[in-house]
Amino acid sequence: MKSTYDVIVTGGGTAGIMAAVQAGRAGADTLLVEKNGMLGGTMTVAGINYPAQYFACGRQIIGGIGWELLCKTYAETGEPLPNASSGEKRHVRIDAAIFAALADEAVLAAGVDLLFHAMPAAARFEDGAWSVQVCTKTGLTSCRAKALVDATGDANVVELAGFDLVRPDIVQPATLTFGCSGYDAEALDYAALKAAADVAVAEGELLGTDVAWRDEGPRGLLRKHGNNANHLRAPDAQTSEGRSKAEIEGRKALLRMYRFLRRQPGLENFRIDWVCPEAGIRETVTIKGKQTITVSEYESGKLYEDAVCYASYPIDEHLNDGKGINMRPLKPGVLPTIPRGALLPAESRFLLVAGRCLASDREANSALRVECPCMAMGQAAGAMAALSARTGLDPEALPIADVLDLLREHGAIVPGE
Ligand SMILES: Cc1cc2nc3c(=O)[nH]c(=O)nc-3n(C[C@H](O)[C@H](O)[C@H](O)COP(=O)(O)OP(=O)(O)OC[C@H]3O[C@@H](n4cnc5c(N)ncnc54)[C@H](O)[C@@H]3O)c2cc1C
Repeated sequence: MKSTYDVIVTGGGTAGIMAAVQAGRAGADTLLVEKNGMLGGTMTVAGINYPAQYFACGRQIIGGIGWELLCKTYAETGEPLPNASSGEKRHVRIDAAIFAALADEAVLAAGVDLLFHAMPAAARFEDGAWSVQVCTKTGLTSCRAKALVDATGDANVVELAGFDLVRPDIVQPATLTFGCSGYDAEALDYAALKAAADVAVAEGELLGTDVAWRDEGPRGLLRKHGNNANHLRAPDAQTSEGRSKAEIEGRKALLRMYRFLRRQPGLENFRIDWVCPEAGIRETVTIKGKQTITVSEYESGKLYEDAVCYASYPIDEHLNDGKGINMRPLKPGVLPTIPRGALLPAESRFLLVAGRCLASDREANSALRVECPCMAMGQAAGAMAALSARTGLDPEALPIADVLDLLREHGAIVPGE
């Protein structure tokens, strides 16, 4: 780690990878700081390796670095790329281990310094640049940068820098993903399992959300072999304290589920083969942005003057009471966009966010948070950070045509085209 950079990106997840690669490829001297030991965030460490949605309205809407990494991952594994353009497939499965390794390669090939096991401890804008203190395994160290990108998903850097966040009273539940085996999913009596689960819930041994998103018993969990099967409460998961509670609650839920299932006929040899090291967090905070995307703007497909990328996904709010999902598809032909202003914290300078904490109301956020828009806004934030570092102009003052030109040059699909 050096003492000065053009751009520092914090968080090497879905959005942060693209931000760092784009900034590096645009010639910015870039540092990527990641708290874990693997890139990919929710896509890899939390096991949600199903990016949605590269295609919508019968065409490709997300390209650029996120698409390039998807194609490279499929080329590496030798699997045919699913035909997502048909519109039938919203989600594309991606091999998480290969994706993470290729992400390392892409970040390093872009000339980015990659620092794992580190988190920012302070961020201050002074004398025309950001001064960032980073907590590493061997102590605190400081560096300066012309522009900062917060891709932590939780706006941790924005908060450290003292800007306002929006904290909803209720947030969507989290999910701890695991893999399980030791049974024949076709031979199980799901009605009997549901009845047994209802008794276990009534007796307080199990929470309904330990085995299902809805009140449906363990059928989905067992058929999907544990993949993305439970719901846990995860308030304040943007803090270390709140996140600790979510991780502990996730493993408690896993243990309750395990003990219950092993007593059921056909599941005596049920076993957990692997569990993600982190729960997947759907929602924490959003920034108070220079612009906020509302659900009515999202659902009408507003083309903002400063739009930097497309997004498409149904409203998808998982309910915190374990009673399912508030899901509302977009009307046919509607193609929402993401404006630059939603990536800029109000009152800030040379500071951008990318990822699920962009400025948006709760319903709009429930759709905008999915992986392909996060990738696209990550690339856009990286492009703006690099241009700001090069020109000395704040991201808000950059001519939008210059931002879109740079994005196009790097394969991104930009709004209006
Ligand atoms: C259970 C679940 C199911 C989902 N299903 C789907 C789906 O099927 N398809 C889909 O497209 N989307 C899905 N989503 C949504 C999507 O996966 C996430 O919203 C998206 O990946 C978030 O991207 P991000 O870059 O904002 O955050 P992340 O990918 O989580 O990246 C944040 C990164 O920042 C790092 N970090 C955090 N804090 C710090 C810090 N202080 N310092 C340094 N590093 C830090 C993290 O370790 C992580 O690497 C799902 C989400 C969940 C939780």
